[in-house]
Amino acid sequence: MNNIEHIGIAVKDIEASNRLFTKLLNQAPYKTEVVESEGVLTSFFMVGNTKIELLQATNPQSPIAQFIEKKGEGIHHIAFGVDNTDSEITRLSGEGFEMIHQTAKPGADNKMIAFAHPKATNGVLVEICSEIVS
Ligand code: ZN
Repeated sequence: MNNIEHIGIAVKDIEASNRLFTKLLNQAPYKTEVVESEGVLTSFFMVGNTKIELLQATNPQSPIAQFIEKKGEGIHHIAFGVDNTDSEITRLSGEGFEMIHQTAKPGADNKMIAFAHPKATNGVLVEICSEIVS
């Protein structure tokens, strides 16, 4: 794993949170993006070499809606940058980590992503992601 690529934060109202984080980080988000497959609306802030990803649910079945219902707003996941998400899935599975995704899938911000099950990682939802090279 190469770096902490981003930290995902679950929010109820992304417009309000964009304003809050714009003040907190003293900069505006550099992009917003809907990821329909995950049922999320996202926005991204660059902080040095790491990003903050805000996530708002777009429907009640969204994992973000379920997370907020159980735990409230707050840190949702930590994403580690890797060279190749599929080979990292293979490595982590080989180490005994239960993966939520067995193959990489397209995520926000031009990334192939996968999640490890938080039961396997001390309650921390871990994402791995790699740049989509076209
Ligand atoms: Zn993420």
